[in-house]
Amino acid sequence: MSRGMLLVLSGPSGSGKGTVLAEFLREEDFKVSVSATSRKPRPGDEEGVTYFFKTREEFEHMIECNEFFEYAVFNGNYYGTPKQNVMECLNEGNNVILEIEVQGAMQVRAAVPDAVLVFMIPPDKDVLRQRLEGRQTEEREVIDQRLATALKEVEYIDCYDYVVINDELDKAVADLRSAVGDAREKRKKNSEFIKKFKGEI
Ligand code: 5GP
Repeated sequence: MSRGMLLVLSGPSGSGKGTVLAEFLREEDFKVSVSATSRKPRPGDEEGVTYFFKTREEFEHMIECNEFFEYAVFNGNYYGTPKQNVMECLNEGNNVILEIEVQGAMQVRAAVPDAVLVFMIPPDKDVLRQRLEGRQTEEREVIDQRLATALKEVEYIDCYDYVVINDELDKAVADLRSAVGDAREKRKKNSEFIKKFKGEI
């Protein structure tokens, strides 16, 4: 059985990753990895669904026990992908999605070179600010901090395999589908080539 696809989706907070991903998943067969974080739950967050919420001490203990596939500090909080399920899921042939920021994505790239990295971003920073303000769950200071972080994150765009501009939901979902379709096709072609080259088919 061939290994599943590891899809990494990054993009600034407020880029609409969550909404696009929810729509994408209606027709695609991917398992979404639930991260751990030391940030405080926001209204609407659900333990074990949005995140596994941890104290800093608990998170640091998990780091010491080597329980993370990748982790990073983002805006002063820890975020990490628990290792346990990810490789197991992939090895069983399942496709897995990680919705993570850029530092974590770079760790995934190093650990799993054939991971498919997608960067999602609104068309410009004014749209991003409007979306962050529209959330009304954050203080102004946090919004400013997230915008500043976004301006740093966008510098990593070249390290990604695909870029999806999230201007309009349907178009962004279609672009994400097309990126995944393209990556799938490439994997298929390569694996057939390898088999032929080895004389297995
Ligand atoms: P938020 O606090 O808005 O839920 O997430 C902040 C950022 O952390 C987002 O860019 C999100 O993609 C990222 N993030 C969520 N989970 C993880 C994770 O497990 N690892 C890393 N590196 N980033 C994560």
